[in-house]
Amino acid sequence: MEGGKKVPVGDAHAHSNPARGMGAREIARRFRRSGGWFIALLSLNPWSYGIEPPGYEAYMKVVDLIVSECRRAREEGLKVKCFSGFHPADVDRLIDRYRLRPEEVLQLGLRVVRALRGMCRDGVIDGIGEVGRQHYRTAPERVAIASLIMEEALEATEDGCMIQLHLEQAGRATIDTVDMVVRRLGVKARETVIFHHSTLQMATRARELGYNATVPGVPKMLDYAAGKAEPIFMIESDFIDDPRRPGVVVYPWLMAEKLSELATKGYEEWAWKVAVENVSRVFGVEPP
Ligand SMILES: [Zn+2]
Repeated sequence: MEGGKKVPVGDAHAHSNPARGMGAREIARRFRRSGGWFIALLSLNPWSYGIEPPGYEAYMKVVDLIVSECRRAREEGLKVKCFSGFHPADVDRLIDRYRLRPEEVLQLGLRVVRALRGMCRDGVIDGIGEVGRQHYRTAPERVAIASLIMEEALEATEDGCMIQLHLEQAGRATIDTVDMVVRRLGVKARETVIFHHSTLQMATRARELGYNATVPGVPKMLDYAAGKAEPIFMIESDFIDDPRRPGVVVYPWLMAEKLSELATKGYEEWAWKVAVENVSRVFGVEPP
């Protein structure tokens, strides 16, 4: 869209990689130019940044890195929420590539998450993410490990951690199985638990149960959802800032431009709910 009115857009889940890609400052600049006002930045795994070997210290270095990246994005004028985690795919990579034993990965993941919990309490980061379950087939014990790490993270909501969950896409079963875990753990702050990479159907179910969800803001999905899907979710670019995989999943600025285009086609209110109102409510930030 050229020259048209830009709607303010919040990106509820994105990554930056200053080691490989353009980094948060440049991402923030480009996103701002297209209407971006908010971004939730989540760390990648240590080896994506070239931080090796991937033990506890590496994960702590990742926290330092994401905190600086969040600061850079903030300096460019975006509202920012900062997350660091222990991705379910890390479990597999640590066993397959780095030759850790499953029990070592479990202990490492729990230790990292406990440290992150303390950092939420101290206001160093805003939340833990990504944690969750693998979205592909893997050995059962690895899913069990990832799940326990997720549970440890969910308990950190007590100390004010927001949570971004990465899960399989099995529709209602995905949401309901996590919901049961959340209830058993006695987690009260359900609205701060975010189901990342949800389908529209999953987002609806999540919201019904008091959680929140992000849906990939790819142009095709936005075209489909505008006007049809109730604007109860947030959108995410899940940008990974890796020049070897350009535009994966979508450029935040492209997502913003698409939303502005939809706004000119009569979906302005819908766009506002998805990209401003819900973001402001969930992340507790002042709208632009
Ligand atoms: Zn992600």
